[in-house]
Amino acid sequence: MLNIVLFGPPGAGKGTQSEKLIEQYQLKHLSTGDIFRANIKGETELGLLAKSYMDKGDLVPDEVTINMLKSELEKAPDAKGFIFDGFPRTTPQAEALDQLLESRGTQISIMLALEVEENELKTRLLERGKTSGRSDDTDPAIIQTRIDNYNRETAPVKDFYAAQNKLQVIDGIGSIEEITQRLFAAIDAL
Ligand code: ADP
Repeated sequence: MLNIVLFGPPGAGKGTQSEKLIEQYQLKHLSTGDIFRANIKGETELGLLAKSYMDKGDLVPDEVTINMLKSELEKAPDAKGFIFDGFPRTTPQAEALDQLLESRGTQISIMLALEVEENELKTRLLERGKTSGRSDDTDPAIIQTRIDNYNRETAPVKDFYAAQNKLQVIDGIGSIEEITQRLFAAIDAL
């Protein structure tokens, strides 16, 4: 199985690049942000809970996020591989993911970490906020909270995969196509 963690700060281009990777490698896309937003739209209990954190730019608690991811994995017993987008976002989530995959007899193949500097992220997110309908993309203070949370809680997840020799850092500045080619090259070299 090919199991990819597509990693990076908010606005790094994970969603955009996920679409290219899914098409190229026939992977099942698991985006925790998308799943939370679908639950908010459907007004489920999980959605209501997640919204209270997301609106502020905070992370949804690990236990909630991990249980949700577990049930999404169970819904796809025949997948050829997965692309994890926006997950894991904390070290406990990364540990839980390793266990979940191990119980299926598989593991993470590679973490692709998109690197984009902070000012560029803010510009991209505010630009996206004009059309995305995402309230967390329109308020500069909420964007700053998300970036701060990324730096504090999420960036250390890179060390977790580096310790397993699975981290590949990818320059996230350039055209969409250029970045896609960098990602393909890293995967094809596996
Ligand atoms: P972005 O990458 O632009 O921040 P996402 O769509 O991945 O957007 O996530 C939006 C929000 O959903 C996050 O700010 C956070 O509140 C919540 N979220 C998504 N994934 C996770 C996760 N793995 N753990 C905790 N919260 C999450």
